[in-house]
Amino acid sequence: MKHLIESKLKIYQTKRKANLKSLNAFDHALYIIPKEYDDSVLSKIPQGLKLKKLLKNSQNKASSRLNNDNFTGLTLSIFDKKNSFENLTWARKTLTHIISENPNSVAIIISGIPKKEIVTILESLVAATEALIFKPPKYQLKDKKVKKIYKFKFFQIPTKVDLSLVRAQAIGNNIARWFTIQPPNKLDAKIYRSEIKKLVKPFNIKYQFFDEVTLKKMNAGAFLAVSQGNKDRNAGIVKLSYRPNKNTKPELALIGKGIIFDTGGTNLKPFSSMLNMHMDMEGSAVALGSLISLAILKVPFPIDTWLAITENRISSTAYKAQDIIKAHNGKTIQTIHTDAEGRMVLADALSIASKEKPKLIIDYATLTGSCVAALTEKYSGVFTNRSKANNLMLEAGIRSGERVWPFPMDDDLEEPIKSEIADLKQCAISEYGDHIHAAKFLSHFVPKNIPWIHIDLSAGKNKGGLAHIPTDATGFGVKLTVELFKSKKITSVLKDL
Ligand SMILES: [Zn+2]
Repeated sequence: MKHLIESKLKIYQTKRKANLKSLNAFDHALYIIPKEYDDSVLSKIPQGLKLKKLLKNSQNKASSRLNNDNFTGLTLSIFDKKNSFENLTWARKTLTHIISENPNSVAIIISGIPKKEIVTILESLVAATEALIFKPPKYQLKDKKVKKIYKFKFFQIPTKVDLSLVRAQAIGNNIARWFTIQPPNKLDAKIYRSEIKKLVKPFNIKYQFFDEVTLKKMNAGAFLAVSQGNKDRNAGIVKLSYRPNKNTKPELALIGKGIIFDTGGTNLKPFSSMLNMHMDMEGSAVALGSLISLAILKVPFPIDTWLAITENRISSTAYKAQDIIKAHNGKTIQTIHTDAEGRMVLADALSIASKEKPKLIIDYATLTGSCVAALTEKYSGVFTNRSKANNLMLEAGIRSGERVWPFPMDDDLEEPIKSEIADLKQCAISEYGDHIHAAKFLSHFVPKNIPWIHIDLSAGKNKGGLAHIPTDATGFGVKLTVELFKSKKITSVLKDL
């Protein structure tokens, strides 16, 4: 799994000015200037003044070649600082064409931009480059597996910019996208497990697997209700323990929905709804990617990650509507719709994780279509048992460029999932507000004294990518999570809850 944790991007930063001759060594030069520029800005970049005409005919971007021995390719881009989401989108738009030409080396020259904004430019460009050069899994006859290194050199940088956070986020995001894009027969439960095991090894993260037999002994009936329809017995819950010190108790628990293929089960999905259901494990991939990012950054607090991995199949042994299921925490569930399997496996994962009394639980799941209906595929939904966490998440979303929006969790919203025969209905009969009902359902499996944040990943897939991400699978959630813990203290998050 080395290819997932080793970046193919080499970055150099220098105070030096570039000149026409030094640019001979590069395949491409990228000039970045502010929206309000004058001759003094252009005169500081090689052949800058010659670009004036070019700029007049275009809006924010222009392409040409330098008149040097190498005829170095040239892109000129105007940077107009906005919010993180828009800065990242700008970075991708600026770089897509450059990367598509497969350059070995790119020189980036920033002129006329204040020091503070230079940091933003570097962070955005590096995030976008890492996302663009990442090769998603492909199964083609002519797939060339070249081990290519891209060299990016930034000129005229007054103070070296620390890019460790951005780079750790990129690795975590690439991991999340890699697994999410994998076709379902290339990533069955067994393969997924073994790849996770290999992936976490270099980080000294302990790997444990709770198989169906173990989960039965633990009374994890909600998880097993879903996995009982599988042909093989490979489903289960993966536990990953990151322990930077000797402490054994987890402070943070990350939980992910890992439905490696969702047919809908007995309540079978129609063609178009089932087409991309190999991606229904993205929550688990995001939890995993977030853990790796935080391990790369060496955060000093212990983390447990729980990945609930199974298929949701139609079969003679699959669970059905009106089945009564007993979950790990003893609560009984009246099954309503077998396609609401995500909340079933999460219920037990949340309950099992809670036993270890973490100080904070975050779960990630491509959970409901109604969250997409409410927010589109550009935002993800946030639900919590601590209303103060809504602001925390909203702000982290703005800063990271992975935007989230909070939903209400009032008690009366729970009425549609009250059951006459069991403790809870799995979901409401009507589809209205299913994302809220799902969150209310999950809240029954987290003790009230543990702060809990549930992220419904409606932005886990967006046609054509999102912000700096070029693929439909966005890996949404890793950058947001790292943003939350970038101070490397869990207390900085907890004090606000
Ligand atoms: Zn489903």
